[in-house]
Amino acid sequence: MEQDNALQPTVDITVSQHGKDEFPPAHTAEHILNATMVRMFGCERSRVNHIERKKSKCNYTLAACPDANQIREVEERVNAVIAQHLPVTCRLVPRAEVPTSIDLSKLPDDTGDDLRLVFVGDYDVCPCAGAHVANTAQIGHFRISSTSWNPNATTANFRIVFRLDLPEE
Ligand SMILES: [Zn+2]
Repeated sequence: MEQDNALQPTVDITVSQHGKDEFPPAHTAEHILNATMVRMFGCERSRVNHIERKKSKCNYTLAACPDANQIREVEERVNAVIAQHLPVTCRLVPRAEVPTSIDLSKLPDDTGDDLRLVFVGDYDVCPCAGAHVANTAQIGHFRISSTSWNPNATTANFRIVFRLDLPEE
């Protein structure tokens, strides 16, 4: 008797710390969103993410809940970056040569001496071992589908849920 179950791929939706299993367009959009949030609100990059093809979530620790205009501005800024069709590149850099402006505190302890820095044009750079698109043109259109604010949370009190309208093949 055939074992149909054996043919089914194992689907692991757990997002690894390195983001290796993440959907590259959404994961690259996450880099741009993080850089945009840091610039607009002076917060840290999202530490707890859930990135997938249909819907992605990023969480930030903010001093106050952004208003509707600010949320719209986040979306517009991210789309403006995407629309520049920036190259997304990576480079191995010895840890000692990484600029101090780059936050290394989130890296796992087993990270080696050479860090893989990922550049989204000149808009963002951060260490990441994940999979990215080669050009922001492959991301399509970025849409914030919802946000939530939890003032009682000690960390990550603001969540952004986003979707992508991928470019047509
Ligand atoms: Zn990445």
